[in-house]
Amino acid sequence: MRRPFVAGNWKMFKTVAEARVLITELLPGLTAIQGVEIVLCPPFTSILPVAALLEGTAIGVGSQNMHWEASGAYTGEIAPPMLAEFCKYVIIGHSERRAYFGETDASVNRKVKAAIEHGLVPIMCVGETLAENEAGITNEVVTRQIKEGLNGVEAQFIGSMVIAYEPVWAIGTGRAATADGANAVIADIIRALLAQIYGGEKSELVRILYGGSVKASNAVEFFRYADIDGALVGGASLKASEFIAIVKAAAN
Ligand code: PEP
Repeated sequence: MRRPFVAGNWKMFKTVAEARVLITELLPGLTAIQGVEIVLCPPFTSILPVAALLEGTAIGVGSQNMHWEASGAYTGEIAPPMLAEFCKYVIIGHSERRAYFGETDASVNRKVKAAIEHGLVPIMCVGETLAENEAGITNEVVTRQIKEGLNGVEAQFIGSMVIAYEPVWAIGTGRAATADGANAVIADIIRALLAQIYGGEKSELVRILYGGSVKASNAVEFFRYADIDGALVGGASLKASEFIAIVKAAAN
């Protein structure tokens, strides 16, 4: 049985002071929920204060990005060992990073391998653009992103990874995929491909999330599907009541 997993991607929102307020609002509701792995991914500046506020709870902290090198002359970047001091997770290859910061399947792959090497759990994002969806090439795009993103990742590490299927056209648009459509990609493309590469047993261990305009009002539809193990939540993770309701839906 895979444990449901819900991660909040705060994107470039919340100063440290604002992050403290949001954590204070989230804690009573989130700590009362059992059986869901919950992760909060604040901006870099809030990682340390958020980690301190979450100490003693089962809620994990994740980063939204990182560099693949362990150290070096990479001005403005953050290295895996720096994150590993405070975080257990790292989002890799979010579509906003691919679209605005030139991330490619090759750089995603380097980051995924670096995360594993440094003991971080990668939450690797994949998903097709609107044009790709309309061209009917979702299968090809997602297959390529998974194969190239995981290139060289050994079978022994795959089970602890998290993959998020986030159709780009659904992110931040209020237009979520249908639960049926998300499940078709997650079960028939992603998990089937993982089974091909790593074998059925290993593929059953991987948590695969849906992301893209998940809200309290639609979350339960996605979680009805056995292959959808949770959600990567952007906008709705910034509102305590919404995020708590989404996590509750995953618990049920
Ligand atoms: C995200 O940022 O990963 C995301 C899914 O955003 P939203 O929930 O706002 O669509």
